[in-house]
This record gives sequence, structure tokens and C-alpha cells, in this order.
Amino acid sequence: MQTKDAESGPVYLSDDGFPDEPKAASGCAVCRTLKSQWRQATELGSPAYGMSHATDLAIEIRRHPHGKGGMS
Ligand SMILES: [Zn+2]
Repeated sequence: MQTKDAESGPVYLSDDGFPDEPKAASGCAVCRTLKSQWRQATELGSPAYGMSHATDLAIEIRRHPHGKGGMS
């Protein structure tokens, strides 16, 4: 039996390893709000700073439906 604990696995998270800046739909107040929250979540020193929070917000922005189709 081999132990994997001795191995140092790959590191996926870097200090500034935030996901790409999400694209907020222009003219959508919800997306704009989420985007500003995302900015705060990615801003070092901000009270709202947090990578998982930023990731959640980015996903929310990307998934926000607008009924016009073709958003990619
Ligand atoms: Zn939106």
C-alpha cells in the first residue's frame, strides 16, 4: 500500500486565482449589481472579500437569464 500523503499534489489555487471577470449584460440592473458585488468580493481588503463568494457571483451572472437568447 502506498501513501499519497507524502506526495505534494498540484496546486490549483494561486494568490490571485480568481476566475475571469464575468460579463454583466448591459442594461441589466441585476447583473450590474452582481458585478459590483463580484468586484468587492475580489478586492483585497474589502469586507466582502472572498474567493468562493466571488465564484458564486460569477456563476450567478453567467446564468442570469435575459430572455433575448444568444448570450454567451
Ligand atoms: Zn442579468
